[in-house]
Amino acid sequence: MDDLKKLSGAAHQPAKKFMRRAGVICIALGLLCIILGIGSFFFSFIANMIGISSGETTFSIPYLFPLAFIGGPIFFIGIVMAVFGYMGAVARYQAAEIAPVASDTVNYMGKSTKPGVRSFASAISEGLTEGAMAGSGSDFQDMINCPVCEARNQTGSKFCDQCGVSIAEIICSNCSSPNQPGSKFCDQCGNNLSDH
Ligand SMILES: [Zn+2]
Ligand SMILES: [Zn+2]
Repeated sequence: MDDLKKLSGAAHQPAKKFMRRAGVICIALGLLCIILGIGSFFFSFIANMIGISSGETTFSIPYLFPLAFIGGPIFFIGIVMAVFGYMGAVARYQAAEIAPVASDTVNYMGKSTKPGVRSFASAISEGLTEGAMAGSGSDFQDMINCPVCEARNQTGSKFCDQCGVSIAEIICSNCSSPNQPGSKFCDQCGNNLSDH
């Protein structure tokens, strides 16, 4: 709000204050003139009706009635001045009201767009990875190399497809940790696996 106040410009403030005050005064004065004028008209009208019914020949003239015609434009000018005087405040209010909404919209759009872009990008990268995997023959992760002939075998295979050597993981009898097929000693505890 402080930034918005600075933006509105201090130089315009006295003019705006005058416009607001003059506007309010004109509205009040205009309303007063309209009320007096119309009031005068009705007062004279009623007084004349009573006078006529009571046989009087003198008529009450609504002297203040022209005030209604003067009051109209004064009232209108007052409205215009008040509108100009308060317009800055209204504009600032609207700016303050709209700004968070606009930033929310941007945030909302950002929030809703970014995951979409991200998922799109990840979909492409996944597609490329899968394509690379498919190109290599089969899934990387489920492959195990034969320790003897280095042929690729499905994980879980007991024997090499190419040379028939045992490629099952060797579970250490001492610490129960899994070891690469063909290992002579346990990676974790150094237990001799050859007697297994
Ligand atoms: Zn092999
Ligand atoms: Zn071990």
